[in-house]
Amino acid sequence: MGAPSQHLFHPANAGDYRREVGAAVDHLVDHLVATAGRPLTGVTPADAARRVAAVDLDRPLGRTDDALAELSRVWLDDAIWFHEPAAAAHLNCPVVIPALVAEVFVSGVNASLDTFDQSAGATFVERHLVDWTSARIGWGPGADGVFTTGGTQSNLQALLLARGRAGAPADRLRVLAGADGHFSVQKAARLLGLGEDAVIPVAVDASRRMDPAALAQALSGCVGRGEVPMAVVATAGTTDFGAIDPLPEVAALARSYGAWFHVDAAYGGGLLASRRRRHRLEGIDLADSVALDFHKTWFQPVSCSALLVRDGASLGHVTWHADYLNPQDSAHPNQVDKSLQTTRRFEALKLWMTLRVMGADAIGDHLDAVIDLADTVAAELAAMPDVELAAAPQLSTIVFRWLPDDADEDEVARLNEAVRAELFDAGRALVAATRVDGRRFLKLTLLNPAATPADVLAVVDDVRRTGRRLAAAAAPGAPRDLAVAR
Ligand SMILES: *Cc1c(COP(=O)(O)O)cnc(C)c1O
Repeated sequence: MGAPSQHLFHPANAGDYRREVGAAVDHLVDHLVATAGRPLTGVTPADAARRVAAVDLDRPLGRTDDALAELSRVWLDDAIWFHEPAAAAHLNCPVVIPALVAEVFVSGVNASLDTFDQSAGATFVERHLVDWTSARIGWGPGADGVFTTGGTQSNLQALLLARGRAGAPADRLRVLAGADGHFSVQKAARLLGLGEDAVIPVAVDASRRMDPAALAQALSGCVGRGEVPMAVVATAGTTDFGAIDPLPEVAALARSYGAWFHVDAAYGGGLLASRRRRHRLEGIDLADSVALDFHKTWFQPVSCSALLVRDGASLGHVTWHADYLNPQDSAHPNQVDKSLQTTRRFEALKLWMTLRVMGADAIGDHLDAVIDLADTVAAELAAMPDVELAAAPQLSTIVFRWLPDDADEDEVARLNEAVRAELFDAGRALVAATRVDGRRFLKLTLLNPAATPADVLAVVDDVRRTGRRLAAAAAPGAPRDLAVAR
């Protein structure tokens, strides 16, 4: 039988490693090329589940080539490809190659970022990136932060720090967040024992940005009822509309009430790298904490994200000393002191390689390209009589719907949903759905700098064409077998 080192990443297996990972890269590239122009197949959950269930995990295949062939059947043949222009539903981005190069080292070396004695220089790579990002925010050397799994975790940690500073009983603590803010704020409040009702939604204005007058009213209402406004959460790039709350005004109000000011820049944070639109984040430096998702507008693979704080000392609210890992008298710098996680992947290396190969300007240019794309496409949509645009795009999302003739609200909602389902099921496009003030809309989330206006308009044309066909099929007198499935 094999040597004790069988399958280990180990000098004895350098040849195996090179050959098998090489074969994996070839296999991936084969799929990449063969699926060009096809973002998805529309595989049904039942089919996907059946293919996976057919695999007997107690019978290993022994050979990587065989496992790769099987992997195609259970997943890759029907994977969703985010580099395709018609994959336009979610904030999951196409990724840049330097970050994929980094992945080789992240998993091969398998450093864990919790302690210096498991990471060595990796700890300082992460810290250097935290310092660099903090400087882009406009903060001085007192700032700090840590890489996280995503905006959800960053928002949770930010509110944990805010609660640590507030120091009042949990049942009196309140969080004020824009009505269009991300649901992870409510989830965080629940996890922190405040309950989701502790989050007070603040009205947005006509451009869907937090209304400072409404915030002032909400804050004074809180205090009037004897509650403690623990934190104000502004969003820099709401998930649906890309709206950036008026950060300077919100910051001033938060400060005057002694509330922690958190900016959820999970989506809009990429503007820190933009040469043309950095000014849209004006006031972000007034935050106590900022959440950034590098795995959205910085074109990094999932996951790569960070929480940054203006005053590094505030991270002490998550510090816990374990005798076996990071004792109080440790001579080493241990990132676990700042993190909700213990064992932690070296995700920061992806951003590092990206900045070292491409530089921040190139990332910012990619983001600017998708914002330009959204503006161009939205202008076309605004001129279409059978399309309703919910609002002008502010970052790279377009919220719209197809408007059939003479249809009531229910019919419009039903037809748009049926169109979206057909586009997915037929493997033509991935379009998102959302609700705006209770009404159903479709949403394009554009994060593909290689997509052209023609690519995106082709998806919109497919929506209109499919809508007309489904509406005609559902009309009284249409043959029954063509009727839209309800
Ligand atoms: C995506 C998003 C989140 C959640 O981030 P994850 O990385 O998915 O956990 C939070 N806030 C906003 C505004 C987002 O767009």
